[in-house]
Amino acid sequence: MVKFNTLLVRGGDVHDNDTGAVNVPVYNSSTYPTRNSVETLCAELENGDRGFAFSSGMAAIHAALSIFKPGDHVIIGDNIYGGTFRLVNDFLKPMGIEFSEVDTRDINAVKAAITPATKAIYFEPVTNPLLHVSSVKQISAVAKNHDLLVIVDNTFLSPYLQQPLDLGADMVVHSATKYLSGHSDIMAGIVVTKGKELGERVYLTQNAVGAVLAPQEASILRRGIQTLNIRMDRHLENTQKIIDYLQKSPKVAKINYPTIDKTSVEYKIIRDETHGAGGVLSFELQPGLDAKEFVNNLNLFVLAVSLGAAESLVEVPAFMSHFEIPKPERLKMGIKDELIRLSIGLEDISDLTADLDTAFAKI
Ligand SMILES: *Cc1c(COP(=O)(O)O)cnc(C)c1O
Repeated sequence: MVKFNTLLVRGGDVHDNDTGAVNVPVYNSSTYPTRNSVETLCAELENGDRGFAFSSGMAAIHAALSIFKPGDHVIIGDNIYGGTFRLVNDFLKPMGIEFSEVDTRDINAVKAAITPATKAIYFEPVTNPLLHVSSVKQISAVAKNHDLLVIVDNTFLSPYLQQPLDLGADMVVHSATKYLSGHSDIMAGIVVTKGKELGERVYLTQNAVGAVLAPQEASILRRGIQTLNIRMDRHLENTQKIIDYLQKSPKVAKINYPTIDKTSVEYKIIRDETHGAGGVLSFELQPGLDAKEFVNNLNLFVLAVSLGAAESLVEVPAFMSHFEIPKPERLKMGIKDELIRLSIGLEDISDLTADLDTAFAKI
């Protein structure tokens, strides 16, 4: 088996002896070598047995959670992606599947939420926008003791920074719209499974529901994945420099990124279970400073809710991604009006800090 960085570039190969094409051609064919290739590639990158490519991250998460039946109980992280909450609350709960929201950082809270009907634990190891960190290892150990499945949304870290199946998880999902494709130009989702049975159950949903990834998108995704390593390295490098910059600003009250406090449990988990905490961070302006005014004065940072792309993005969770949550609840979650979230891109760092300089000067 070749190393990870080689797999990124060469994995999932389809050898086309007719044309001798170097890359996997876009077969505009309704039976699907281009998709198969990226599915194999993702299974290899996550060290799983089977990969499945979907038309969006949400379609992938739906497929992952479709393996449960009415009466089953699933523990979910209390800070997971908003769209996943919508799928759970408005779609899966009415079908009779039960869910408990738990702060998965607290392993005792996870244990306490297990009931005889519990089948699985679903969570994000690093959450948005507060960068809470949960241990895949610890949660998987608890799950094994109780015969539960562990499903991890690995969108934030990507297999370059963490391989949850190697830490004990059973299934990994991705919004490949983010780091895996990496250029904000497609929507895609991935599920990777371990073991025969799980693979068959997810395949049933993929085949029966049909939210599959089209050949052109599969090819764009494969191309994005080829540069995941160098992109993630630059995301990490730029993120650290932005943190250094923000730490010097008197207008910043707090920065959320798990490696800042080297004495924290979260730092230890990042050190032991990942190769880095990714390219997303958030920070609070000093009380009373206007986050909306701040972001409106940014030029290079694009105002948008997505993440994981070549370009740097900024958003204000209280007024954008988390606007639907009533303010008291939002505050209880720790999302203040002054909170700003950055997805750090690949631009020259001095241009990014100059952009922040301008916006800080205006508030
Ligand atoms: C964006 C995102 C999703 C949803 O993916 P789409 O491709 O937008 O459907 C799921 N989980 C996380 C963590 C995300 O950031």
